[in-house]
Order: sequence, then C-alpha cells, then structure tokens
Amino acid sequence: MKTTRRSLLALSAAALTVARAHARWPDAQDSRDAGAAHRGPAAIASGNGLAAAKLAFARASGGTDPLDAVVAGVTLVEDDPKDTSVGLGGLPNEAGVVQLDASVMHGPTHRAGAVAALEGIQNPAQVALLVLKRTRHVMLVGDGAKRFALAQGFREVNLLTDESRRAWMAWKAKQNPLDNWLDPEQQLETQGAIEVPYSTGTVHCSAVDTKGDLGAVTSTSGLSWKIPGRVGDSPIVGAGMYLDNAVGSAGATGLGEAVIQVCGSFSVVRAMEDGMEPTEACLAVLKRIAERTRRPYLLDASGKPNFQVVFYALRKDGAYGSASLLPGGTYAVHTAAASEVRASVSLF
Ligand code: ASP
Repeated sequence: MKTTRRSLLALSAAALTVARAHARWPDAQDSRDAGAAHRGPAAIASGNGLAAAKLAFARASGGTDPLDAVVAGVTLVEDDPKDTSVGLGGLPNEAGVVQLDASVMHGPTHRAGAVAALEGIQNPAQVALLVLKRTRHVMLVGDGAKRFALAQGFREVNLLTDESRRAWMAWKAKQNPLDNWLDPEQQLETQGAIEVPYSTGTVHCSAVDTKGDLGAVTSTSGLSWKIPGRVGDSPIVGAGMYLDNAVGSAGATGLGEAVIQVCGSFSVVRAMEDGMEPTEACLAVLKRIAERTRRPYLLDASGKPNFQVVFYALRKDGAYGSASLLPGGTYAVHTAAASEVRASVSLF
C-alpha cells in the first residue's frame, strides 16, 4: 500500500483514538494536563535525570546554549557510578566490556553529533558534542570514536565498577548450568547474593530556553550483556533523540531495537508538528510500536509487547509530556514552577 502524507495523518488520528482508549488517564491525567498547559523555558529528562534537567534549566536560563546546557546536565548522570545504565558503572556487554552510545542535537543549527560503541571514555555525550562542533561528520563509532576522544583530551578510564563486574560475572555464570562457570547458587563460598539486573536505563534530556531554542541529548551504556558491537537507538539521530527547532524535541529509553524500527523520536516530533500534544504524540508512536511488534518472544500471552519503551517530548513553546508502553515509566521535569519525577502516561 502506498503511504501518503494523508494516510499517515489518518493513521496517526486512528492511533490516537486507540491510544486514548488504552491509556491509564486516571493515574496520569494531572501531570499530562500540567505538561500540556506549560509555556516557557523547561527541561525534561528520563526519570533518572532530575538533576540533569535541573542543571540544564539553570544553565539554559542563564544564557548558556541549550545544547551545552543539556550535555552539562547528563554529565552528572554519566559520572554517577550508581547509575548502571549510563557512563561510569554502566553494565557491560557479554564480553564484560562497557560500550557507550550517545547523541546530541542543536536546535538553532539543526546539527547533530553521535558516538557509538565507545570504550574507555566516561562522557560519551561530551564526545558526541565535539563530533558536532569540531568535525564535518555526524557519527563516529568504536575505535575511531575513542581515538577522536583521546585526541580531544579525554582521559581513558576503566568504566567497569566492581559492582557492574560482579553483576556481569553472575550473569555469565548463569548462562549454562553445564559450562565451567559455577553460578552463585553452585559456588561453595559466595560473596553474598549477587543480583543479575537487566539494564533498561539511559538518560535523555531536552531543554528549551527563553528564545524557544532547543537542545537534546541521549546517553547510555545500552542493553546489558549485549553482543559486542550492538548499537541501540540512543546514538541514532531520529531514534533515541531528535529535535526540530521549529517544532520541538523528543527522546526515548527502553528497548532500542523497537524504537529504531519506527524512527521513534523523529516520529514523536513529526506527530507534534501534525498538531498532537506532546503526550499524545508519544502515545501515537508507542501505539505504532505495539502494532508492529510481531516476534513471539516480544509479546505476552495476551499479545501485548512485553518490553518497555518510554518517550519524552518537549514542544518549542514549553509544553511537555511523556508516555510509556507499559506502566512504570517515569520522567523528570524542571521548570520555573515544578521540579519533580512524574509517572508517564501508560499505553497499556
Ligand atoms: N535504549 C537503550 C538501548 O536500547 C537502552 C535503554 O534505554 O534501556 O540501548
């Protein structure tokens, strides 16, 4: 079937109707309305990014470029060894190596920068920013990204904290009961219970300043235990992050493969351009993900996706919102009137 702009709009409208029917409005009505009604400077972030949003808002309000402001914000999260989804302390890939992904976008110039599968450098968002500022390229990956970072003066560090290393060893040992690794239950002496968390975290931050100029960044260590070289949505411009200075900004966290395959953040910005409120735009794209998820291992018994995706949206005029596929999604907001983590509206 040929897809025209008209059919896309019809699809969006249909998606919105169904999304509304599924959404848990009673829980989230207030925060949705507050975000839709807000006007003026604002910073929003993923639920782990309240400090990032706060700093980004303060910097952007003080005249710092909005992109520099959001990168300064997420640097706080990347530097936090307790956040096992980003930067230092991020959970490693299946080989025990931490590989980081990040992307940034600057509203006034519509330029982007990104790095993927970057090893040994703690602040991938800052490296992505330098790709934007100091090169003619948009994305550097792997060894090339690391060489670029070192040439720009970044220090090489061991990103694997003891906590993340122990979690990786526990995961590795549990893969196959017949291999030569004793899992924590089989060990004669253990160092205490070791959890094997599955990381679904990332930090996104978008800000709009008093002039209506936008900046956006997404930074992550990606899915834990991923196949080395796997790149998720976070460093893909249009997937894990996108902005259009005439419209607004969006970001994503959760299962990157699902986000990439619907051009997630780009689609959220386009839905806002077509007139949807930020939360509605997020819901429409989540609906598209749900409708296009076919692989049985990604569906629960009732046919719903069994994974999480959360979108964050900030319009040029300061309206903002967030929605998640499943309950439990959160987002952070910092404006002149509010500074808090809120529940995202859930599609299911
Ligand atoms: N979106 C990230 C990725 O797929 C992971 C996450 O947000 O949890 O790499």
